[in-house]
Amino acid sequence: MSRFMKNSLADLIPYTPGEQPSKKMIKLNTNENPYPPSPAVEKILENMDEDKGRLYSDPQASAAKKAIAGYYGIRPDQTIMFNGSDEGLAMSFMAFGENICFPEISYSFYKVFARVFSRKYSMIPLKKDFTIDPDDYIRSTGTVLIANPNAPTGIALDPDQIERIVASDKDRMVIVDEAYIDFGGETCTGLIDKYDNLLVIQTMSKSRSLAGLRIGYAMSSSDIIKDLDRIRYSFNPYNMNALSIAAAEAAMNDREYFRETSEKIMKTREMTVSELRKLGLDILPSKANFIFVKGGPDYYEKLKEKNILARYWNESPLSDWVRISIGTWEEMKELVKATKEISCEKAR
Ligand code: PMP
Repeated sequence: MSRFMKNSLADLIPYTPGEQPSKKMIKLNTNENPYPPSPAVEKILENMDEDKGRLYSDPQASAAKKAIAGYYGIRPDQTIMFNGSDEGLAMSFMAFGENICFPEISYSFYKVFARVFSRKYSMIPLKKDFTIDPDDYIRSTGTVLIANPNAPTGIALDPDQIERIVASDKDRMVIVDEAYIDFGGETCTGLIDKYDNLLVIQTMSKSRSLAGLRIGYAMSSSDIIKDLDRIRYSFNPYNMNALSIAAAEAAMNDREYFRETSEKIMKTREMTVSELRKLGLDILPSKANFIFVKGGPDYYEKLKEKNILARYWNESPLSDWVRISIGTWEEMKELVKATKEISCEKAR
């Protein structure tokens, strides 16, 4: 650290992104979609108009917002676009995170945001079975932030449980991070017209195969969206580049492709879970495009030796578990085969 860095940030521990390996591996470590983006997006990438590069992008990203509003049956002024949902989360911490609580086991970036923006935060333990107890949040004060489904557990909460938290104190903001909602969970977007203290954040990185284009968005009451827009215009008004705006619009409008690929991933997840359980592995019930498997560092390392990259956190209470993204069925068959070999080697 140089001597110029602000003192209060001296002990900041940044977020560690999952590895992007340089050699070819079965890459199941960052919850990317194994399928390509919609053919409509590919067309846009191939035929980019030169003016899209020359001119500034639309600071309102109107085309993308219109497509999102159309998909969810809301108004465009109830949504806002971000350069990845991480940016949306960061702006939410800036706007509403003065005093914030989130689960102790959740997306590890939350703690980093709280620290970088000097927020007062508390982390609420999960129950023994890794589920979230809504009553813990009803009892808490300040903003609530919940990933639904949670990460890295993959366990989802029903929207009526989240609604209990939202309804319990209308002067408290509830932020729901729905990065993984399209793989079997139920979205809370239906509640945004009923409550003006609910903010739902989603991403196109997972279910719409666009992690590299960095597209996130939020949906809420128009007043909350206006607050976030004030932050955005005070920070980076052209946060969405022209290609991402066009790709977001195309991806959102190709509903059939989205439905097909998401269903394939859910089916592959269920087949993988069933095969791994046959081998005696303990797996949490996932509604995400990943599974959390009891295995520990040994399992992670041995998979890596077999050219399969999963995600491992060497910190209690996660250190007994390995997170594995859902790839194609061919990739998951390789994972099952490797797991079988590993358990045979262990038995020897
Ligand atoms: N929320 C959760 C729970 C995540 O796991 C991720 C992906 N790391 C994100 C948000 C951010 O996704 P992105 O910035 O790619 O939209």
